[in-house]
Amino acid sequence: MSKKRIETTCVQSGYYPKNGEPRQIPIYQSTTFKYDSSAEMGKLFDLKASGYFYTRLQNPTNDLVAAKLCELEGGTAAMLTSSGQAANFFAIFNVANCGDHVIASSAIYGGTFNLFNVTMKKMGIDFTFVSPDSTEEELDKAFKPNTKAVFGETIANPACTVLDIELFAKVAHKHGVPFIIDNTFATPVNCRPIEWGADIVTHSTTKYLDGHGSSVGGAIIDAGKFDWDSHADKFPGLTTPDDSYHGITYTKAFGKEGAFITKATAQLMRDFGSIQSPQNAYYVNLGIESLHVRMAKHCENGQKVAEFLSKHPKIEHVTYCGLPTDKCYELGKKYLPNGSCGVLSFNVKGTRDDVEKFMGALKIAQIETHVADAKTCCLHPANATHRQLTDEQLLAAGITPTLVRYSCGLENADDLIEDLAQALEKI
Ligand SMILES: *Cc1c(COP(=O)(O)O)cnc(C)c1O
Repeated sequence: MSKKRIETTCVQSGYYPKNGEPRQIPIYQSTTFKYDSSAEMGKLFDLKASGYFYTRLQNPTNDLVAAKLCELEGGTAAMLTSSGQAANFFAIFNVANCGDHVIASSAIYGGTFNLFNVTMKKMGIDFTFVSPDSTEEELDKAFKPNTKAVFGETIANPACTVLDIELFAKVAHKHGVPFIIDNTFATPVNCRPIEWGADIVTHSTTKYLDGHGSSVGGAIIDAGKFDWDSHADKFPGLTTPDDSYHGITYTKAFGKEGAFITKATAQLMRDFGSIQSPQNAYYVNLGIESLHVRMAKHCENGQKVAEFLSKHPKIEHVTYCGLPTDKCYELGKKYLPNGSCGVLSFNVKGTRDDVEKFMGALKIAQIETHVADAKTCCLHPANATHRQLTDEQLLAAGITPTLVRYSCGLENADDLIEDLAQALEKI
């Protein structure tokens, strides 16, 4: 049989029950695991055998779901984390220490921006934020001798811009560092960044992968392609003995295919404990079983709603890469040929108060600090997540006072459009 197609991987991969075993992934709701002798358990502690001893490090349910995500993204190793925030923190902290520097696209999720710009800066890691539209020369200029990684988002939340993945990966590799990409909004159904050169892929599984707003979670997938040993001086954490783990050298013991995830598990998960609960991993897997079906519908609704709004006299501007007038239309065609996602943003003509009146009149779309699940929702950043900012500060952050972020769920597109139309009549 030829290689499985993405739809079959969504449904079937990761877990292969043997004769008489449960068809659905078992939830290993156990903190610990029993062994016949200390010697056997010792082999696990020395990373000489693989197995489970304590759920803070690894859990079988989580590993089955991580294995499915690994196959979906085309990686060699993967792990789940407690949230998307934990995934991005681990992905960067696994290669960058105090005194190091990282380059990140400025068009990223606000929570990630805060993590990098405030919290990780306090840990002594310096970040340079570059425009997602940077040229190769502009990216080159951002590198320093201590740069350890480049970071971006396939489709930026909430900017809805599409990243030139090939360019960012190429420049990262030219400077001997990995390119880490957050693929939350596109999902592996619509874009597999590893095929375009990315080295590490992260996810907030909270969004489309779960897809039903049930569970906060994250994931990290390693392409297994970055040769840490060729840049050994830059990445001593992976290429020299880890004193906190019996002097193991991750690249020697696990090769470039397994070093990154093994280090992140043995060291970061051990010390920070940001494990996903097995129950949540189970829900994420249920979501992934229908991911390919849902993403097509999210994209269909996103496209129809974007087209409707772009022609509406009370709407100033719509950002959605499926619109031929969008500045990311060509990048979208290249990296997201089957569609991007269900999230779009638009500006209402009028004032902040008009936006509130319009959103208050919506009957199907609900006001939520969330995106990317089955139920359509919307947010007015100027009066919610960014309400402490003045209009001038909002503009500096790339958010206009009348911007609305709208996440198309799985409802009927005509119902969403009629809902928007009646609410726009109220202003
Ligand atoms: C939501 C989100 C995150 C953070 O994920 P949590 O699961 O909420 O911690 C990170 N990146 C992107 C692109 C997101 O949309």
